[in-house]
Amino acid sequence: MSKPTIEDEHINFADGNLVILAGPGADIPGRGRRDGPVHSFRCHQSVLARRSEPFQQMFGMPGSVPDEYLDGIPAVTLPDDWQDVRDLLRLLYDYLEIPRRHRDARTLETMAGPLRLAKKYMMTDIWTTLSQIFEDDWPMDLDHWYQAEDITAANVKAAHDHADTMMGSEKWQTWDINNHVPDPALAARLALELHIPHALRSAFYDLNRVFYASPFLEYDAFRRTEARRVVHPALDPPAFAALVGGRERLRARTAAYLRALPDRLVRASTPRGYALPWQSCHGMRWSIMGWGDARESWPCEPQIRAWAARVAEKLRMGGSEREGVPSFCVDPLAHLRRLQEKLTSAATPAKEVEGMCVPCRWWVAEILRMDAQRLWDDLPALFELPPGC
Ligand SMILES: [Zn+2]
Repeated sequence: MSKPTIEDEHINFADGNLVILAGPGADIPGRGRRDGPVHSFRCHQSVLARRSEPFQQMFGMPGSVPDEYLDGIPAVTLPDDWQDVRDLLRLLYDYLEIPRRHRDARTLETMAGPLRLAKKYMMTDIWTTLSQIFEDDWPMDLDHWYQAEDITAANVKAAHDHADTMMGSEKWQTWDINNHVPDPALAARLALELHIPHALRSAFYDLNRVFYASPFLEYDAFRRTEARRVVHPALDPPAFAALVGGRERLRARTAAYLRALPDRLVRASTPRGYALPWQSCHGMRWSIMGWGDARESWPCEPQIRAWAARVAEKLRMGGSEREGVPSFCVDPLAHLRRLQEKLTSAATPAKEVEGMCVPCRWWVAEILRMDAQRLWDDLPALFELPPGC
């Protein structure tokens, strides 16, 4: 061996009949080429062959000649990054545990290497299991995205509470929300690299919300412990352009949505399965007997308009988190969900919804739900994501 070799601390079995060698030379998107020693993993041909047809063929072919021998054991050099090889082998030999908790911040980092190699070496069962975990953490439908948001919030709160008890006043020197939330840049990059389109929609939506910091800047300069940031190397140029363009389009669209909201709520076509709002409106039942042109005398219409105008104004001004952009334009889905909850909750005083009757409150909530769904459905177009997202 010309290059120094480091034996892995776990994958180094005395009875192993194969040595896998891997260096840092592999070109991993976002990781760059690095120098460094070759790592060796003494393992078993059968363990690899059982999972992967390419390996099966590599070992099974009569007369297949290994690259070299190390202490009399056949050695094969893989062109892959040694960290990926290490993580895959550790997974195969149960030294690597993929976090089982939904939306765990460590999950993606742990399974990135095994996922990459499982795809390359056709390890179907590993690929199926891991890509399913990936897609569950970055769902493609809105209800699951809301669930993922709730789980993330609960994870952060649990970590926060824990930090509170453990560290007291020093907490603010060690607490960082980014250690407890999955990194959407890593998710987006991996989903693009490995063609897992299902994960892209939520990853790009989440990325749009995250303050975008360069990994090369001084860490302390960005130490805003409650602010999320991207800690992994940036997306490649096309994906970055899609993100920036998508953010602009999303903001234009949400701003226009707020302007149109009062008219939208009273003119929206009736959702399937719902009675016409001016027929179910409580005010209506008590006020007239014959319907006539009922829409013209919908009792709650002024209340709905007043409520929508007040909400739109508040959202236009509200929560200018960064760059003076209202938080509604950054995360419209969260705001629309909150409004729905408020409208349909019995605990919300009538005064807060301008005295709308209960059926009209539910009707407005349903319109907002449909609008959120439509926005979610349009995300792939807004962010110019590849087909299948
Ligand atoms: Zn009403």
